[in-house]
Amino acid sequence: MKSIAKILLAIFVIIVFSAYALNESPKVDVDMVAKIREEGFQHSQVMDIVGYMTDVLGARLTLSEDMKRAQDWVKNKMGEIGLVNTVIEPFMDYGVSWDNEYFSIHMLEPDYQPMVGFPLSHTPSTKGKITSSTMIVNIKTKKDILEFRGELSGKVVLSTPPAEIDLVKMAQATPRRNSEDLKQIEEQVIPQPQRRRVPPPPPDPDLLKSTEIIEFFKTEGVLAVLECRSGRPGLVRGFARPGTKDDGWSLEGNLASLPIIAVTPEHYNRMYRILIRDIPVTIELEVRNRMGDHVEKANNILGEIPGTDLKDEIVMIGAHFDTWHASPNASDDTAGCAVALEAVRILKAIGAQPRRTIRVALWGGEEQGIHGSREYVHKHFGNPKDPDIGIKPGYDKFSVYFNQDYGAGAFRGIYLQGNEFARRIFASWMEPMQDLGFTAISIQSVGSTDHVSFDRVGLPGFQFIQDRIPGTAGHTNLDFLDTLQADDLMKNAVIMAVFAYQAAMSDERMPRETIVRYNKKLYPLCCLISFSEPLDWEGIFSEIWQQPCNLGPRHWPLVLIQAVTAIGGLPSGQSHNLTRAI
Ligand SMILES: [Zn+2]
Repeated sequence: MKSIAKILLAIFVIIVFSAYALNESPKVDVDMVAKIREEGFQHSQVMDIVGYMTDVLGARLTLSEDMKRAQDWVKNKMGEIGLVNTVIEPFMDYGVSWDNEYFSIHMLEPDYQPMVGFPLSHTPSTKGKITSSTMIVNIKTKKDILEFRGELSGKVVLSTPPAEIDLVKMAQATPRRNSEDLKQIEEQVIPQPQRRRVPPPPPDPDLLKSTEIIEFFKTEGVLAVLECRSGRPGLVRGFARPGTKDDGWSLEGNLASLPIIAVTPEHYNRMYRILIRDIPVTIELEVRNRMGDHVEKANNILGEIPGTDLKDEIVMIGAHFDTWHASPNASDDTAGCAVALEAVRILKAIGAQPRRTIRVALWGGEEQGIHGSREYVHKHFGNPKDPDIGIKPGYDKFSVYFNQDYGAGAFRGIYLQGNEFARRIFASWMEPMQDLGFTAISIQSVGSTDHVSFDRVGLPGFQFIQDRIPGTAGHTNLDFLDTLQADDLMKNAVIMAVFAYQAAMSDERMPRETIVRYNKKLYPLCCLISFSEPLDWEGIFSEIWQQPCNLGPRHWPLVLIQAVTAIGGLPSGQSHNLTRAI
């Protein structure tokens, strides 16, 4: 009992002293913010950068010839900006390269109609220009196959149901976020658990996989497959052929497939309706795709502004450079890449001398599963949850990563990824940029892009809350420069530059989230406070004690609040208010 009393007294003393230390707000270099704003708003180059990328470089499918050309350009651009240690860095054996070089589709009968579409990636070419009759073929089960056996030779098939267009949704357009909207995001103070991948139900033995359906078409002598997966007029959505992930984007997989063409809803539906009338539809189609003959590595591109006295410590910003293949994907994520490059350009232009190294990363392989950033993080920083990877020396030296990938709208705030300890820091950095509409802080964790690669291994990685803007969004044939808005991207580049600079200049590295799991000092403390369950000290030590620790004593009051909350001592809303108050 005596020792428990001593420990409690020690905790009390630490809390009192560190609460005193915490009264200081994180410092903001307002002169530097002024310089960044002046350069970013009065001499911006962000539209020139994003314009070149979208208009001249175009689409950049991971490991395409298009991508190889574009990444050389980026490396040069980084050099021009004045970055050092610029590198095109391979991250994995990816597959064979694939590029669409030519495509045309026309309806010839019963009426001439030029049509809009594009081939799915990693599909083969047609055998020259083909003219073919078409047929609706709706196959889901093994039984459905019987109906079509022997009927499909020499045909092009319409393989999906007709597209449904939601005119009401279209009429509602895309409003920007208003203050009520942002308030709602902020008021969701209880972190929602991240969506867990639900294990798929046991496969229905009668249902055919997409790859099996394509295989059936191929053995039956089908010439090409048409599909429509878009619900908006004019818009074509199409990704990779079925099976690419399983066969690793392989040449064999590509050649074993058929040409698969995504078609715009109006044209697809027109053919469909004519066929339902029992009137034949004849089309002309030509696809020429170029494929590599050997497996190659896909790449990330990186460059740095070197740090000074803390140059071994790393602050990162970035976005994904790869896109789907049917348009330059101006909003997904070319705009993010331009913002990241413009942010470092601004910092170089004003002669910033950050203490920590600021590294910009333009990732590859994001669209196929966040491969580039994940492999990079594992290689350079490690993964404490995976003993095969382990913790690399860079893990402890890493501070923070900021990402843009929710379209091209202005930054309106930031998601904390559950990290309460980042709240006060971000709030103070945001202070001199309130007039940009950059005000909201949400505790929620968000997913589906490259900051997740950092977050998953316990490193601080953040994604901004962004405005929604009109446009088609990514993954379509119509995502071009025209819908990007210069004001939004200028604001984002300024904010990205300020955040990168402040993170590089702070006295301490960004505190890390999931303290209970990652901080060796905290976990026993949490357990002591809880007085609830008997402590499994052996488990605590074996699992937690080897984890790196990045929190100084000044964070302990926050740690305590988080700990009590985590254990159920305080409702989360109060924890939020208390944290803000401190
Ligand atoms: Zn994206």
